[in-house]
Amino acid sequence: MRKKLIAGNWKMNKTPSEAKKLIAELKELVVNDSVDVCYCVPAIDIVPAVEAVKGTNVAIGAQNLYFEESGAYTGEISAAMLTDAGVKYVIMGHSERRGYFHETDADVNKKLKKALGHGLVPIMCCGESLEQRESGETFTWIRSQIKAGFDAVSAEDAAKVVVAYEPIWAIGTGKTATSAQAEEVCGDIRKFLAELYDETTADRIRILYGGSMNAGNAAELLAQPDIDGGLIGGASLKTDFGKIVNYDK
Ligand code: PEP
Repeated sequence: MRKKLIAGNWKMNKTPSEAKKLIAELKELVVNDSVDVCYCVPAIDIVPAVEAVKGTNVAIGAQNLYFEESGAYTGEISAAMLTDAGVKYVIMGHSERRGYFHETDADVNKKLKKALGHGLVPIMCCGESLEQRESGETFTWIRSQIKAGFDAVSAEDAAKVVVAYEPIWAIGTGKTATSAQAEEVCGDIRKFLAELYDETTADRIRILYGGSMNAGNAAELLAQPDIDGGLIGGASLKTDFGKIVNYDK
C-alpha cells in the first residue's frame, strides 16, 4: 500500500523569516498521519525550515541539486549539503527548470542517481505541453522522459523514486487536468514502469499529480488509483494547503 505524499513546491517564494512564519501558521493544519507531507523550499530557506519543522510530521525538500559530488560549480548545491542540512526530498526535472534553465533528461537522470546515492528521495517531474497534448503526443513524450530519467537505475533504487506528473498547461494556470486525464497518464506511467522494471517495483513507486491542485479539487484527484499524492505550487503557500493534506477528512 503506497502512502500518499502531499508535497508543496514553494518555488522562488518566501524569505527565510517568511518561511518560518508560514511553517508556524501551517503547523496545526497539516497534521494527518495517513499522508506524508513535505515543503520543497528555496535553498536559502532550507536550514531555518528544517529547524522550524522539528518535532512535526513535516519533512523538508529542496527544489534542485547538482549532480557532481563537490568542487568548482559556483552557485550549485550538492546532495551531501542537502542531506547534512536535514533535507529528505529533492525535486528534479520541473518544467520550469527544464524550460528556463535548460535542464535536460540527461541532467535529470544524473541528478536522480546522485540523489539516490545520498539517500535523498527524488521527486522526478515529467509533463507535456498543450501542443503535445493536442497533437496526441502525451504518452510517447511522458514515456520518453521516464525512460531517460530512470536510465541505469536499479529496480531497488527505482522503487524509492517519486514521479510527479505535471502537465505544463496546468501549472500555475488554474487549469487542472480532470481526474480522468490525470489518472490516464499516471496509470500509463505505472504501466510503463512495470515494463521497464516489473509489476512489484511499479506498484511501489509513488506517482503524484501536479498542476493547479487546490482544496476544491484535491479529494477527487487523490481518489484515483494511480495518483499517490500531489505536488502543489500556488496552494502550498496558503492555509489551503492544510485542507489538501486533510483531503480524506
Ligand atoms: C508546480 O509548479 O509544481 C505546480 C504544480 O504549481 P501549481 O500548483 O501552482 O500549478
